[in-house]
Amino acid sequence: PSPVVAVVGRPNVGKSTLVNRILGRREAVVEDVPGVTRDRVAYDAEWRGRRFTVVDTGGWLPDAVGLAAAIAEQARLAVELAEVVLFVVDATVGATDVDEAVVEILRRSGKPIVLAANKVDDIGAESDATALWSLGIGEPMAVSALHGRASGDLLDAVLSAL
Ligand code: GDP
Ligand code: MG
Repeated sequence: PSPVVAVVGRPNVGKSTLVNRILGRREAVVEDVPGVTRDRVAYDAEWRGRRFTVVDTGGWLPDAVGLAAAIAEQARLAVELAEVVLFVVDATVGATDVDEAVVEILRRSGKPIVLAANKVDDIGAESDATALWSLGIGEPMAVSALHGRASGDLLDAVLSAL
C-alpha cells in the first residue's frame, strides 16, 4: 500500500485547493458549500516518481457544531492513519487557538509534520509565513495553493518526511 499523507487544518485554510494542486488536476472539491467533500477524501498521487495517497481530512468535518472539538478529532484520526501529516495554516490569518490545539495533538503523535503556510500569494506575504515559526513545529513552508507558488518545494518536504 502507498504511504498516506493526511492534510489537516481548519476549514477554509485551503486544504482542498492544496490537494488539487498536489494531484495536478481539479478533483478534490473546493468547499464553497460546507460539507461537499465529505464523500470522497483519498486520492492517489505521485511526485518525482513516488506514489502516495493524499487524504483531504476536511471531508471528515461535521457542520459548524463544536468545530474546535471536531478539528481535534480530525487531527487524531489523521495521525493514526498517516505516515506524514501536512498541516495547513492560513498564513494571512496566522496561528489561531485551534491551530495551537491541533499542533499539540500532532506533536504528541511523534509523526513527521510538514507545516504549510498557505495563501502566501506573493513575496509581500512571506512575513506572514515566517510568523508561523511560533507554532514550534519547524519551518513554515510558504505556499500558495491557489497559484501553485512553491508547491514543488512543499512536495519535496513531504516526500523527504515519508
Ligand atoms: P478547505 O476548507 O481548507 O478545504 O479550503 P478550500 O480549499 O475549500 O479553500 C477555501 C478558500 O480559500 C477558497 O475560496 C479558496 O479559493 C481559497 N484559497 C485556497 N488556497 C488559497 C491561496 O493559496 N491563496 C488565496 N488567496 N486563496 C486561497
Ligand atoms: Mg476542503
